[in-house]
Amino acid sequence: MNPKILLSTPHMGGNELKYIHQAFTDNWVAPLGANVNGFESDLEEYLGNGSHVAVTSAGTAALHLALVMLDIGPGDEVFCQSMTFAASANPIAYVGATPVFIDSEKDTWNICPEALQEALADRAKKGKLPKAVIIVHLYGMPAKMDELISVCNEYGVPMLEDAAEALGSTYKGVKCGTFGQMAILSFNGNKIITTSGGGALVTKDPLLKKKSIFLGTQARDAAAHYEHTHIGYNYRLSNISAGIGRGQMEVLDERVAARKRNQSFYANLFKDVDGIEVFTEPNEDFFSNHWLTSILVDPAKTGFTREDLRLRMLNKGIESRPLWKPMHMQPVFRGTDFFGSSVSEELFRDGLCMPSGSNLGAAEHERIAEAIQTMVPEVAWSPSV
Ligand SMILES: *Cc1c(COP(=O)(O)O)cnc(C)c1O
Repeated sequence: MNPKILLSTPHMGGNELKYIHQAFTDNWVAPLGANVNGFESDLEEYLGNGSHVAVTSAGTAALHLALVMLDIGPGDEVFCQSMTFAASANPIAYVGATPVFIDSEKDTWNICPEALQEALADRAKKGKLPKAVIIVHLYGMPAKMDELISVCNEYGVPMLEDAAEALGSTYKGVKCGTFGQMAILSFNGNKIITTSGGGALVTKDPLLKKKSIFLGTQARDAAAHYEHTHIGYNYRLSNISAGIGRGQMEVLDERVAARKRNQSFYANLFKDVDGIEVFTEPNEDFFSNHWLTSILVDPAKTGFTREDLRLRMLNKGIESRPLWKPMHMQPVFRGTDFFGSSVSEELFRDGLCMPSGSNLGAAEHERIAEAIQTMVPEVAWSPSV
């Protein structure tokens, strides 16, 4: 039996163990040390654009710290892209604030600038603006940054960028994760690079970096004993995990290239299939890392749904997954305000994420193509003999 082909699995570069070994040699088996500092400088150098980076135990933790540093709490609203992973929105609940969800637009599947404008105008009229807007670069696709920045600036509301899926993506040549007042990255096991679990807060303000590290290491004031004037968190990344991150940074460009090859593979596979659309950059301003290549299935044209295709692939040992279910449709956020129309609901209904690991090779592509061909005979694929 062939092993299962999964959606996105860790892909080590080879030098990760060298950095971990060094941590053991130095006995820095702790949430601080040379790998933590080194991983932060690697990320700062990679992102450029004046970035300062604090690495954390998870992307979710970094977003929580960002909301804390913006002094967001009960009675405040935070606007958030509805179509995303729950971790984009959960930290709003951690600080006791109220989320308001915003629909997507069809080009990038990210937060719709018009719907955001409408929501901000509504709150301006009511006399209380949100404390922040969380935008996401879904599946690595940059959001419409020019439009979003201009809407946020018009109302003077800080933008937080959830770039958890978008390390390596750029918009007009500028790296995702460097646009917002603060941004977060994730190095969870399924992301484009991984530290097993981990994340980062990115900011242009060195003081915010310093403050996030202070808050993320239990907010200990300067004194010989333990003195506290703030509520702290235990959110720093381990020096062992950071060692994995340093090894992964050495191969990040290769990982982006491999994910883009997957996207080209699917784009070619479905090029003659009426009713299947492969998610692609709307124009040259957008450069996606194609973390997960996704497709939209129009059952009126294909005669099958995305769920039919998912089950067929599963039956052949291949994992695929529906797109993120929008937050305004989630039971846990029932009753939350929502601005927009039905774009994200329709994307969720018709969308499927395909296996997209950077470690998929020609043999896996062949198995995937053959499995899909059993349901979609017109794919551009001829079985090798
Ligand atoms: C993975 C992810 C996160 C959370 O990152 P963790 O490191 O898993 O906490 C947040 N937002 C999005 C969009 C993600 O995909």
